[in-house]
Amino acid sequence: MSDLSPAPTQTPVNVFNCTQCGGLLHPDEGQIFLTCPYCSSTVYLDKTQVVFHWYLAPTFDEAKARAALARWMAGNQTVKDLDKKARLLSSAFQYFPLWYFKHQAANGKESILMEPAAAISVSEVRNIKLPAGDLRKYDSTLDADSQPPSVPLDAVTKWLEERQVPGKEIAERALVHIPMYQFKYAYNNQEYLAVVEAGTGGVFANIFPAKAEMPYQVIGGLTALIFLCISTFPVIGALSGYPEGILIGTALYLVLALLAAPVLFALALWIAAKV
Ligand SMILES: [Zn+2]
Repeated sequence: MSDLSPAPTQTPVNVFNCTQCGGLLHPDEGQIFLTCPYCSSTVYLDKTQVVFHWYLAPTFDEAKARAALARWMAGNQTVKDLDKKARLLSSAFQYFPLWYFKHQAANGKESILMEPAAAISVSEVRNIKLPAGDLRKYDSTLDADSQPPSVPLDAVTKWLEERQVPGKEIAERALVHIPMYQFKYAYNNQEYLAVVEAGTGGVFANIFPAKAEMPYQVIGGLTALIFLCISTFPVIGALSGYPEGILIGTALYLVLALLAAPVLFALALWIAAKV
């Protein structure tokens, strides 16, 4: 007896079409990174789709990455002398996965959106600026150093939609592995993590010992208060009833303002040098 049931018309789930040439890809069980045998594109197999798979070539070795970290620590965002006071605990190199989206907005504006494709405490890595034209085809020799994605593409696409980026405006999606050094360091008995992206040397950190803003707010408030007080002198002079009252009040105001300004300025400089 012959089997008359129609042949399955759907592509079996373990066969995908290449994003570039449409050729049939036959991944092994569990294989997620693949090179197309026809056009040699590198692709990533999500559960439901195939996307291009790129990596950014590192130009920073560990010594250069450490130098970039030290520059950032010595910079204006972080607490003074962090570069000298922080104690480096560990460093680890890894190709970290990010989902890459080319967003074509309704008004024609094009932008690149990135989202971490694996868990990372430094979510700022989404702000990585990819140097144009520097993406290369992913290569299986990088497997040992690269983290596979654990955040599904669908989940990120949904999340983007919630942020007013409809799926139909996404012109291109891809998986990009970014080389990065993760540096753990200690400061004042607290541990922090900073990421140095090894393509361009960008430094990313969510939480770090930041410059205290309080002293600046205090000096700002003090300045406003002092000038508010002395600006009442001409008014008091005018209300005093004496004809020369307003003149004396104004003169007093000018003298005090000229005296107070440099003192407050010096105080602000002193605070800037301290924190
Ligand atoms: Zn292909």
